[in-house]
Amino acid sequence: MAEGVAIFAEWAGDGLHPVSFELLSEARRLADELESKVKAFFPAPPGQESQAEALIRHGADEVLYASHPAFENFLDDAASRLLVKMIREDTPEIFLFPATARGQALAPRVAGYLRLGLTAHCIAFEIGKEDRTLIQIRPSFGENVMAKIISLTKPQMATVRPGVFPKAKEDPARRGEIKKFPVSDEDARSALKVLERRPKAAPKVDLSRAKVVVAGGRGLGTKEFFAKLFELAELLEGAVGATRPVCHLGWISEDHMIGVSGQTVSPRLYFGFGISGAVHHLVGIRNPGLMVAVNTDPEAPLMKKADVAVVGDVREVLPLLIRRLKELKGESHEA
Ligand SMILES: Cc1cc2nc3c(=O)[nH]c(=O)nc-3n(C[C@H](O)[C@H](O)[C@H](O)COP(=O)(O)OP(=O)(O)OC[C@H]3O[C@@H](n4cnc5c(N)ncnc54)[C@H](O)[C@@H]3O)c2cc1C
Repeated sequence: MAEGVAIFAEWAGDGLHPVSFELLSEARRLADELESKVKAFFPAPPGQESQAEALIRHGADEVLYASHPAFENFLDDAASRLLVKMIREDTPEIFLFPATARGQALAPRVAGYLRLGLTAHCIAFEIGKEDRTLIQIRPSFGENVMAKIISLTKPQMATVRPGVFPKAKEDPARRGEIKKFPVSDEDARSALKVLERRPKAAPKVDLSRAKVVVAGGRGLGTKEFFAKLFELAELLEGAVGATRPVCHLGWISEDHMIGVSGQTVSPRLYFGFGISGAVHHLVGIRNPGLMVAVNTDPEAPLMKKADVAVVGDVREVLPLLIRRLKELKGESHEA
């Protein structure tokens, strides 16, 4: 019988990817509701027992540690075949992958081999009261619809957007079981060969830690006017964020994008200028202290969500705000 809420614990080359702990916190919550257990499927190179123990301390009841030297590198063909084998033997009820590059490479392969349904980029889950079904929630149909999706196959499989769930808290007293899952050379065989490794440059803009985010959307009209946001951000010691269309218009680089395809922010103060507030953008704003929206359309979703909704033209409001802040700071020149 299918049992347990499983996660793919992602080996990141020098330890566990932090998203593994986010998946664990949600898996723990779901397993507790289902009165079931949390399992971590962990393909990694040998010698990572301490990482397996960390998974237990963060909420896993069982870790299936599949160790082989080949998994020092990320081999999506071998890892997906191995996960299929592990799932066939262990039969979890639910399986969650992180929507990281690796998770997104593996999940569709595994779902394809096993002929399972797969819901991508979920941001929330519920358990169906009557039938223990996993209700998988994600933004859909382009704009403001939260779709609730159920799988008709088991394990019910989904990828989870990083940064959405809190990291599981560590409990040094937690105990669990580490099971070694045998991996043969044939299991680890891959058509891929790693020729060279080059460290990825850190993102140029880290919005996730900004206390003040000044974000702009298509309503700002032009690239030149959009640049005014930098002036405001400087005055407020904040960072500039953007919607996807303005990044695609070339008004600002994609490093500044907030939302499902960009970064997640949780500032004390968020400004949205000329932003409609599509779900794809909103999911990137977590627990803002105060949300201020400026829009000509009082019915725009961001205006409905904001703590302070200013009905007005950004071309008037933004220069006015910059001027007022400069006055308050004692700067005399015009905005
Ligand atoms: C798979 C997928 C992923 C996506 N990922 C993201 C993502 O990560 N981040 C993201 O932001 N979007 C994302 N999108 C796009 C998203 O659905 C919206 O289309 C986008 O957020 C809208 O951007 P916007 O608010 O700048 O533009 P619009 O929706 O065009 O809104 C412009 C707003 O400006 C207002 N306005 C116009 N003129 C003025 C003025 N003079 N003064 C004041 N207000 C004015 C309008 O009333 C309107 O509300 C994604 C879409 C898809 C399909």
